[in-house]
Parts: sequence; structure tokens; C-alpha cells
Amino acid sequence: MARPEVDIDVDPETGIWRTDGLPMLYLPRHFMVNNHVAVEEALGLDTYRAILRIATDKSAVHWCKSTAKTLNLTPVETFHRYFKRLSQRGWGQFTVDNIDLANKRGAISLRNSIFALEQQGADRAVCYMFEGFMTGALRYLLDAETSADIGCNEEACAAAGHTACRFSFSAV
Ligand SMILES: [Zn+2]
Repeated sequence: MARPEVDIDVDPETGIWRTDGLPMLYLPRHFMVNNHVAVEEALGLDTYRAILRIATDKSAVHWCKSTAKTLNLTPVETFHRYFKRLSQRGWGQFTVDNIDLANKRGAISLRNSIFALEQQGADRAVCYMFEGFMTGALRYLLDAETSADIGCNEEACAAAGHTACRFSFSAV
């Protein structure tokens, strides 16, 4: 086993945890995924996926803006750090397989996704929450204020028997 690679600052007055200045939470994986599945069941997959896409895209842009400012990183450095930090925080092991700025597209693979690990044997891709992470990160990379239509799709999922989850994303 290894120790976490993420530094956590705990405010002794408030109990708030922070990393790189951003307030953070540390959650049981089953708690996170149980809540996720409950909302999916209540709203329906398509509705929930659309809501999540907007919310997670917004959060990715927020993280990238905050971290770039705090650590004085370039947009490309910030993009890569975003997926490295997600990996270090236990969401899964993200690998940026391709990022093509000229054509505004990229691909990411993911091993040990929290959603795949909690939903083994699913008959479909289950890690769609991460699609907005990727559209937001690409949005930041292109121009954080852009309203460009950016798509992302989980093309293969380890929950459905693939060796890794694979995502492709692109701006229209
Ligand atoms: Zn997956």
C-alpha cells in the first residue's frame, strides 16, 4: 500500500479540508455510487446524464481555473494535472491517450473507475459522470469562457467487460 499523493490542509477552526486552496470531501465510495444510482433511478438515465453533464462540466472548468491560478500553470499543464489529481484522489486511474488541440478532440482511458468497480456486470457503460469532467477540461483548454458544443462519450466500459473504460471527446 502507499500513502496518498495529495496534500490535505485541515482548518483546525472549521474542520474544512483543502487541497491547493479548494475545499474538498473524503467519502466512502459506496456512499457516492449509491447516491448516484438512486438519482439515476429516480430521474431516468437520459435526464440524469444531461443534468450531470452540465454540472460536472462547470465543476471541471472551476477546478481548472482555480488550480491554474493557485499554481500558475499553463492551460495544458492544468488539463493534465486535472486528470492526474482525479487519479490521485481515488476516482480511477485516468490516462490522457490523445489530446489534439488543432482538431479540438481527445481520448482518455480509465482503469479502476469507481462506477465500474461498484457496478460490475452492467450491460452498458456506467461511468457517464466522467463525460462532463472531460468536456469541461477540454472547454477550459480551448477557452474557459467558450460556449462551444463539446461532446463526450464513454465508448467502452470496464463494468461491461472491457479491459478499461475509454472516452472520446471533441468540440463541434
Ligand atoms: Zn466505465
